[in-house]
Amino acid sequence: MVRVTHSAESAASLTNGPDGPVEAPVSQTLFARAAAVTPGGVNSPVRAFGAVGGTPRFMASGAGAYLTDADGRTYVDLVCSWGPMILGHAHRAVTEAVLAAVARGTSYGTPTEGEVALAEEIVARVDPVEQVRLVTSGTEATMSAIRLARGVTGRAKVVKFAGCYHGHVDSLLAAAGSGVATFALPDTPGVTGAQAGDTIVLPYNDLDAVRAAFAAHPDEIACVITEAVPGNMGVVPPLPGFNQGLADLAHAHGALLVSDEVMTGFRVSRQGWYGVEGVVPDLVTFGKVMGGGFPAAAFGGRAELMAHLAPAGPVYQAGTLAGNPVATAAGLAQLRQLDAAAYARLDATAAELRGMVGQALAKEGVSHVINHAGNMFSVFLTADGVTEVRDFAAARAQQTFRYTAFFHAMLRQGVYLPPSAFEVWFVSTAHDDEALERVAAALPAAARAAAEAGDDD
Ligand SMILES: *Cc1c(COP(=O)(O)O)cnc(C)c1O
Repeated sequence: MVRVTHSAESAASLTNGPDGPVEAPVSQTLFARAAAVTPGGVNSPVRAFGAVGGTPRFMASGAGAYLTDADGRTYVDLVCSWGPMILGHAHRAVTEAVLAAVARGTSYGTPTEGEVALAEEIVARVDPVEQVRLVTSGTEATMSAIRLARGVTGRAKVVKFAGCYHGHVDSLLAAAGSGVATFALPDTPGVTGAQAGDTIVLPYNDLDAVRAAFAAHPDEIACVITEAVPGNMGVVPPLPGFNQGLADLAHAHGALLVSDEVMTGFRVSRQGWYGVEGVVPDLVTFGKVMGGGFPAAAFGGRAELMAHLAPAGPVYQAGTLAGNPVATAAGLAQLRQLDAAAYARLDATAAELRGMVGQALAKEGVSHVINHAGNMFSVFLTADGVTEVRDFAAARAQQTFRYTAFFHAMLRQGVYLPPSAFEVWFVSTAHDDEALERVAAALPAAARAAAEAGDDD
C-alpha cells in the first residue's frame, strides 16, 4: 500500500534533520507564559512532555493527518487528540455540523433533538446498550457508572486492574498494591483512604486474582471495572477468555461488569471492543471518539439498570452542559462517517504502521513488543529477550529511555508520537500514503537513536 520513499525534500523544509537542534521558540515562549498561570503549563499532565523531556509543542492548527505548531512546523499526528480525531483534523462533515449547530445557539439547558439522535446512534450500534446518559467527559462517565453500580447493588467495593485508567475519579486513581485483594492506598495526595479503601486493585489478565477477591469479599463487591482493552498502560490486550471470565465471575457473585470503552468505543469497530469480542457487560462507558473532538461522553446499559438514574430512579446524576448541542452535533456527524469501510481503512493503516515500525526497530536490533487491538497499538521498547507484555508490571519494565530518544528523533523529523511510552499510537482515516511515507522516512534515524540511547537517568 505504501511506497517507502525518502521524501528528503519535504522533510528538510520542516525540520533540522534527525540529529539537528530542535528549535521551537514560539512554543517555548508560550510554555513559559502557560507555566506562569497554569500548574505545569498544561491542562492535562501528559501534555507537558514530562516523560520525554523538552518543550511541549503548542499546536496552532490541524488538518487531516497533520498538526501545525505555533512555530509553523508540521507533523504527522499519531496522537489524534488521544483518540477522538478518528477522521483526522477539521473533517468537513464534522466541521459543517459544528458550524451549523453553533449558529443555532450553543447551549439551552433543555432537552434537544440532537442528543436524542446521538443516543439513538449509540444504542443502535452497541447491542448491550439499551439506554445511555450523556455526560461531558470519560471521567464523568466512569464515575457515574460506578455510582450507578453501587446504587443498584447496594454494595461499596469496586474491583479495578493495575494499569487501567478510568479518568481521574478519586476511587479509581488507586493503582498501587500487589497480590490478591490488596486494599489500595491512594496513588495521589487528595484521595482519602476512605475513597481508595473500597477499591480493590488486581493484576490485569489474572482471573485467579479476581476469583480470590470475590471469595474474600462475598456480597461486598458492586462491580468490576475494566478497560475493554487497556490502552492506558500502552495496549495490553485481554487474554482470550479474560473479559468473559470477568462477566461470569461478577454475575456469579451478584456484581456488575463495567466495560470502560472510553478509548475503544467506536474506535476499534462500529460497536467498539464489544463488536470484536462479543462479551456482554452490564454497563459501558464511552467518550473520546463519540464527541467528535468536543467534550461529550456517555454511559449506558440495560434499560432496567439505567432506570435507577434520576429522574427515573433514585441515583442522582446531572450536568449543566450534558448533551450540549454543539458536542452532540459533532459526535453524531463523526459517528455517521464511521462505516465498515472506515474501520477497514483504519485497520489497514495501523497494520502498515506496525509493520514499518517493527521493521525499523528490528533492523537496528532494538528489542520491542508491538501490541495491538484493532487499530490501536503501542510500541514497547523492551529489555532483550522480552517477547510479550501482558500486564502493568511488564509494561513498566520497558526501557523508557529508548522511547525518549525514539520520540525526539521522530519529532525532529515531523512525526508527532505520544509523549510517553505508556500510550497508544492513534491513526485516523485521513492518514494516507503520503503521511505514512513521512513516518517511514523518519523511522530509520529514530530506530538508530533508540538503539544508541543510554540509560543515564
Ligand atoms: C481517556 C479515558 C478516560 C477518561 O476520559 P476523559 O474524557 O479524559 O475524562 C477514561 N477511561 C479510559 C479507558 C480512557 O481512555
